[in-house]
Amino acid sequence: MKRWLRTRGAWWLAWLGLTLAGAAWLAQGELLRLRDAFDTEARIAHRLLSQQVVQHDAVLVTLALLDSGATNARPEQRLSSVYPSILAVQRREHGADWSDAAHAAALAAAETRSRASHHPALATLDLPAGRYQLVIGAEPTSYALDIDLAATVPWRDWPMDPAQSPVRVALEHGDQRFVIQPGRAAEGRWRFGMRKTLASESQNLDLVASRGITVADLPWGRIAAWALAVAALLGGGRALQRQRTARRRAEELLRLGQVARLNALGELAAGMAHELNQPLTAVLANTQAARRLLDDDEPDLDTARSAMGQAVTQARRAAEVVGRLRRAVERPGGGVQPVVLQEAVHAALHLLEPECAKRGVAVRFDAAAQAPVRVLADPVALEQIVHNLLMNALQALEEVPPPQRRIAIDASAGADTGTLRLSDSGVGIAPELLPKLFEPFFSTRAGGLGLGLSLCETLAGEMGGALRARPGQAHGACFELELPLAGRNATP
Ligand code: ADP
Repeated sequence: MKRWLRTRGAWWLAWLGLTLAGAAWLAQGELLRLRDAFDTEARIAHRLLSQQVVQHDAVLVTLALLDSGATNARPEQRLSSVYPSILAVQRREHGADWSDAAHAAALAAAETRSRASHHPALATLDLPAGRYQLVIGAEPTSYALDIDLAATVPWRDWPMDPAQSPVRVALEHGDQRFVIQPGRAAEGRWRFGMRKTLASESQNLDLVASRGITVADLPWGRIAAWALAVAALLGGGRALQRQRTARRRAEELLRLGQVARLNALGELAAGMAHELNQPLTAVLANTQAARRLLDDDEPDLDTARSAMGQAVTQARRAAEVVGRLRRAVERPGGGVQPVVLQEAVHAALHLLEPECAKRGVAVRFDAAAQAPVRVLADPVALEQIVHNLLMNALQALEEVPPPQRRIAIDASAGADTGTLRLSDSGVGIAPELLPKLFEPFFSTRAGGLGLGLSLCETLAGEMGGALRARPGQAHGACFELELPLAGRNATP
C-alpha cells in the first residue's frame, strides 16, 4: 500500500490535484464570463426600457404644451399609431370629468399629484396585466395615457432572445410583477441578480433581472480536455521516469557485472595458481633430480627414468587442470538472431554518451544516412563487442588533445556479411603489435587486463564472424567487425 502510494498513487494524486485545480480555474473563468455577459445584458435592458418609459413622460408634456384648446384638431388621437405602447389617450377639459369612469378617482388623484410636482404621475397600475395609466395635470386640459407594457419592450434592440435566454427579466412595483421574459426556471446553486429602478420619476418601476447557474453551465468540455491533457502529460512523465530508472538500473547492472567478472577472474587466477603450483613444483623437482642423476659419472638411469616419469605425470595433471578450467569458463552460446547493426551501436553509444561528452570526444555516426544492416548475432554479445571497442577507443583518445578526439562509426553490407567499422583518432597501434592484439593478457596499458579484445574476437568467432584491427587511415586505429548477414538486407 505504501509503495502504491509512493508510485502509482502519487501519480494519481498528482493527476487529481492538477485536474481539480484546472477545473476550478476554468469554472471560475466561465462564471466570470457569464457574470459579465449577464451584467451587460441587464444594463442594456434597463437602458432600453428607461428610454421607452421616458418617452411616455415626454409625450404627456408635449400634449399639455401643444394644448389645442377647443379646436377640433386632436393630434393625440393619432399617437397610438406612432407609439404602439400607448393604447389610448384621454383628455379632461377644465371642469369636465375623466371619460374612464371606472378609474376616475385614481386619475383625479394622480392629476392632483401631477399638478403639485409639475411632472406626470402614475394613476393606476396593473402590472400582472401589463397595463398602467399616466396622467399630467395641466390647464386647460389634462391628459392621461393608457399604456401597454408588452408593447413598451423594444424587441428589435433587445439584447437577449426572450424565448431562449436563461435570464429572467421582470418589472416590479410593490408586490406586483410583469414578466418580460421568463428565463430558465431551474433554480441554480448560484444566482446572479440585478435590481434597478427605471430612470423615470413618474414610472418608478424596478427592473429585476436574475439568472440561475446550474452545473450544466460549467465548461465540462474544456474541463474534460484539461483532465485528458494532464493525464497525457503525467503519463508521459511517468513513462520517461520509468525509462530513466530502467536505464540507470541497466547501467548499474552492467557495472556490477563487470565488477563481478573481474572478481571471478581474480578467483579464477588464484585457483589456477594454486592448482598449477603443485604439479609444476613437482615437475621442476623431478626434472632437476633427473638432470642431477644423469650428470653423475655413473648415471642412475632407472631412477632418472622414474623421476622423468613422475614429471610427465605431473605435467599431465597440470594440463588436466588447464583443460578443466577451460571447460569451466566456456560460455553457453547465446543463440543468434537477426539484429540491426546500427541499433546495437545506438544502444552502446547511449550508455557511453556521458563518458564521450565528459572527455570531449566527437562521435560521428549517422544511422539515418545508412541503410539498416541486418546481421545474425547474439544481441548481448554484439553489444558487448561494440561496448569494448568503444571503451578501447576512448582510452586511446585520452592520449591526444581534446580537439583531436574523434570516433567515426559506419555500417555497410557486403555480399554475405555486414561490416561495422569503428575508427578513432587516438594513439594508434604500432604495426609490430598488430599480430599480438587479440592474444589473451596482451596489454600496453598500465592496469590493463588484456582480455577485452581477446574476448571480443572469441565472441565474434562464436557468431560466425570475425574481428580485425588495422592502423587508422590518417592516424589512430580502426577495428572491423564482420558478421553474417541475416537473409536479404531488408528494412526491419
Ligand atoms: P586492455 O584494454 O585491458 O589493455 P584489450 O584487449 O582491450 O585490453 O586491448 C589490448 C591492447 O590493444 C591495449 O592495451 C592497447 O594497446 C591496444 N588497443 C586496443 N584498442 C586500441 C585502440 N583503439 N587504439 C590503440 N590501441 C588499442
